Amino acid sequence: MRPYLALILTALLCPALALAWDPHGHRIVGQIAQAKLDPAARAQVAALLAGERDPTLAGVSNWADTLRWRDPELFQRSKRWHFINFHDADCSYVPARDCPGGDCIVAATEEQLRILGNTRLPREQRAQALKFVVHFIGDIHQPLHAGNRDDHGGNDYQIRYDGRGTNLHKVWDGLVLGRAAFDPAADAQRLAETPVPAANLRTDRRAPERWARESCLAIDANAIYPPSHRIDRAYLDAHRPLAEQRLLLAGARLAAELDAVLR
Ligand SMILES: [Zn+2]
Repeated sequence: MRPYLALILTALLCPALALAWDPHGHRIVGQIAQAKLDPAARAQVAALLAGERDPTLAGVSNWADTLRWRDPELFQRSKRWHFINFHDADCSYVPARDCPGGDCIVAATEEQLRILGNTRLPREQRAQALKFVVHFIGDIHQPLHAGNRDDHGGNDYQIRYDGRGTNLHKVWDGLVLGRAAFDPAADAQRLAETPVPAANLRTDRRAPERWARESCLAIDANAIYPPSHRIDRAYLDAHRPLAEQRLLLAGARLAAELDAVLR
């Protein structure tokens, strides 16, 4: 349980810097993908993660968020790789404007997939790329990790819920998933059984850009921003299916990418 405790402590200490779905969300993505991997990719994942305390995709899914205290230098270098800020109402991707220096989740996901697939690179480097990919494909499906408003992905959009103050990003990192009675393993198993149409699983070079744009477009299409800055139980219940659909797509796409890259 210690990594969870550390993440919770970090979240409390750095409330303005939410970098990811809650740990449970990332574990669900990892577990869905693990269930969908083909045998060759599953064997390579096991080989790359050998020596990890929990050598599964779920087990390493929150590693990128632990860099904050585990490896501050790598954290500084990678902290902008968890999200992208779009600038147009139609969520179009202009790399020079939206991803300067390649420091955004679209370019980082592309780059880490390239490293993972390059068998001439050292195993350690590819194992690290795998851990980044598992996390980033989760984050890129969280709509507010790919927003197009000037509010740090909803971190600056204050929300009242249940008599307390929070912000919209945090709502979407965890609250909307139903934190209260949460069982990530059971939720992952339930979601993994939902079929995902093959059209959603194309693994061409522009896939990360498509997923980010899809997240961005989901924000207005699903009225994620409550104009009153207030949400209630009905808001969470109404939006949970979208959050679960994003986790399912993330898990299925992660498996498809790993099947394509690790063969
Ligand atoms: Zn993250």
